[in-house]
Amino acid sequence: MLKRSTKYLYRNMLKYVGIRKKFCCICNKAVVGFLPYEGEFKNFSFTELKIVGSDVRNFMCPHCRCIDRERHLFLYAKKLDLISKMSNAKILHFAPEKNISKIINEIKPSKYIKADLYPTSPDIQKIDMLSIPFEDNTFDFVIANHVLEHVSDVSIALKELNRILKIGGLGVLQTPYSSVLQNTFSDPGISSDSARLNLYGQEDHVRVFGNDIFQIITSNGFKSRVCTHHEILYDIDPIQYGVNVLEPLFLFEKI
Ligand SMILES: [Zn+2]
Repeated sequence: MLKRSTKYLYRNMLKYVGIRKKFCCICNKAVVGFLPYEGEFKNFSFTELKIVGSDVRNFMCPHCRCIDRERHLFLYAKKLDLISKMSNAKILHFAPEKNISKIINEIKPSKYIKADLYPTSPDIQKIDMLSIPFEDNTFDFVIANHVLEHVSDVSIALKELNRILKIGGLGVLQTPYSSVLQNTFSDPGISSDSARLNLYGQEDHVRVFGNDIFQIITSNGFKSRVCTHHEILYDIDPIQYGVNVLEPLFLFEKI
C-alpha cells in the first residue's frame, strides 16, 4: 500500500514524464494500460490503407477484458442518451459483446434479442442477418458492432436490418473501413482463409470497405446520423480511455 505522499509524488511524476492515467469506462477502474490485440494481421497493411476501426495497440482492458470498440460505443451511447432510450425499447443485437449486453440488460428493454450466425452461448439465438426471422417494423434499435465486414451480401443484410426496424428506429452499425479507398474492395476470386487474411485483414472478413460505406448504408433506406469523436466526445481523452479517436459513431435512422 502506497502512502498518500508517495501516491502524490507518483502522480506528479507521471504527469511530468507525460504518461496519462488510463481508465476503463466499462468496469470503472484505472488501468496501467490497455492490452494490444493478439490476433494476426500478417501482410495486411493497416498503415497504408489507414483502416479506421479498432485501436489494436490499446485493445483490451486488463480487468474486465472489454475491447476498445465496446468502450467507444458505450461512451457515444451514454453521451447521446441512447442507453436510457433503450429502456422499454425493443432491441436486436448482433454479435453481442458481453459487457454491452450486460449494460443493456440492466436498463430493462421490453424485448432484447441477442443474435449471431454462430452462437457461443444458449442465450444467443442463431440468426442469419440475410434472413432475419422477425416481422417488419419490430425493433427500436439494432446493434451490429463490426459485423457488416463479415456478411456475404451487405446489401441484403442492410435491407433486412432496415425492414425489421420501426420507422425512426436506430441502427448502430460500427464498421471498419479504409479512409484512403474510395470504393469498397472485394473479389469473388479471394476465397481462401489465407487470401482473406492477406487482402482483407482477417480470415473471416469478406471485404475492405472504403469511403463509400456511408453511401452503401444510406442507399438501403437509412438516414445518416453519423457523428465523430470530436463532435460528440470532445471532453473524452481517447488515449486515457483507450479508444480510436478516428472511429465515428455509425448511427443510422430508418426513414
Ligand atoms: Zn475494464
